[in-house]
Amino acid sequence: MSVTAVATDQSVCAPLPVLGRDVTVPLVTGGEVTYAALDYAASAPALQRVWDDVAAYAPYYGSVHRGAGYLSQLSTDLFENSRAAVAEFLDCREADQVVFTRSTTDSLNLLAAALPAGCQVFVFETEHHASLLPWGNARVTYLDAPRTPGEAVTTLERALADRDPYGPALVCVTGASNVTGELWPVRELAAAAHAHGARIVLDAAQLAPHHPVSVKDLDVDWVAFSGHKLYAPFGSGVLAGRADWLREAEPYLAGGGASRKVARRADGGVDVEWHTTAARHEAGSPNVIGVYAIASACKALAEAGFDDLVARERYLVAKVREGLAGVPEVKVLSLFGDEAPRVGVISFVVRGWNSSHFAAALSAEYGIGVRDGLFCAHPLVRTLLGGDPQDVGECGAPDGGTTSLNAIRVSFGAGTPD
Ligand code: PLP
Repeated sequence: MSVTAVATDQSVCAPLPVLGRDVTVPLVTGGEVTYAALDYAASAPALQRVWDDVAAYAPYYGSVHRGAGYLSQLSTDLFENSRAAVAEFLDCREADQVVFTRSTTDSLNLLAAALPAGCQVFVFETEHHASLLPWGNARVTYLDAPRTPGEAVTTLERALADRDPYGPALVCVTGASNVTGELWPVRELAAAAHAHGARIVLDAAQLAPHHPVSVKDLDVDWVAFSGHKLYAPFGSGVLAGRADWLREAEPYLAGGGASRKVARRADGGVDVEWHTTAARHEAGSPNVIGVYAIASACKALAEAGFDDLVARERYLVAKVREGLAGVPEVKVLSLFGDEAPRVGVISFVVRGWNSSHFAAALSAEYGIGVRDGLFCAHPLVRTLLGGDPQDVGECGAPDGGTTSLNAIRVSFGAGTPD
C-alpha cells in the first residue's frame, strides 16, 4: 500500500474534535486528572460531529422498512442513504453492496458463512482473531509470519501457486496491524490473489480510521470495518464489496427483513423467497442509529480529508517512539522493522515489569488508558515476544501460563492532544 507523503515534523494540524477530552478520573494517590485516552485501537471516542448528528436525529427515530409513518419513512431513507455514504467513503465499485453488520468480527463471519462450496482460505497467522478464526467451514491455509512486506507477498504467491486452480479461494488480510500498527502491502497482496484467481477481503478495522481506503485503488473484493473504531461507537459495522457470493449464500440470519415472500406450502411446509440485496443478510430490525453514526463519521472524515490526520499521527508516533527509545528497558514490537510505515498503534514490553501491572499503574497513577494483553492476536504477539524471551522474562503472569507473554499497547488518532 502506498502512503501519502507528508511532513513528519508538525504538531499543529487541527485534530478533529472528539468527545471525552475533558473527562476526569480518580487517581490512587488522591485527586483526579484529565483522562488520557490512548486506546483508540480498541475503541475510539465518538467524533463530536457524529454525536451531534446522532443527537439531532434521535427524536426522529423510527422503525426501518417497517412503518408508513413519517418517522419510519425518514429513518428508512436515512438508513438506506447511509449505504451510499459508506460506499463513497470506501470508493466502492458501482455494483458493490454495503451490508450493515455489528462489527468487523460480524462482517468477516458473514463472509465466512457466504463462501462458495470448496472455497480455500489463505490467512496469515499474524492476523487479529476476527480475521484468523471465522473460516472453520473452509479449507484454511495459515501462512507463516513474514518479516517484510515483500515476504508477505511472496509467501502468499507461493501458497496460492499450490492451490487447486479451479476452485474458489479467498485471502483475508489486515490493512494495518492492531499490534504493531504496521501497514500491510494490500494492493500487492490483492494483485497476487487475483493473479491466482483468488479473491481478497481487507480487514480495515485499524486502517480505515487512519488512512483513506479505496476499494478501487487497492482492488480488493471486500472491506470490513467497525463503527466503534471509526469514531462512531454505536454498535454497527460494515461489509462492503462484491455482491455475487453474498447474493448466492443462505441468509446470515433468517427472519423478517431478509425475506421477500413467505408462504405456506400445500405439504405444510414454508416457502421463502429471500432478498438478493444487502437486506438478505440484515434480518431483524436494524441498528439505525449505529448505521447513521457510521455514515456521519465517514462524511466527517472524508470532508476533513486524511492528510492532516496522517501527518499528525506520524508526528505522534515519532514522538512516542522517541520517548520509548530513551528507556533502555523498553522493547517496541515490530514485525517489519523500525522504518516500516505505521498508524498510531505502538505495542511494547518493559523489562522487569508484568505488562498488565504496568498498564494498571498507568491508569491508577496517571489516568492514562492503554491496552494490555495479547490483543486478540495471540500467534502474532507470541511470535514477536518469543524471539527474545529475555525481554519478557520477568513478565510472569499470576497463572504462570501463556498470558505471561503479554504486552502494552498505546494507540491514538483524531483528537489526541500532544
Ligand atoms: N480486526 C482488527 C485488525 C482489529 O484490531 C479488531 C479489533 O480490535 C477486529 C478486527 C475486530 O473488531 P471488532 O471487535 O469491532 O469486531
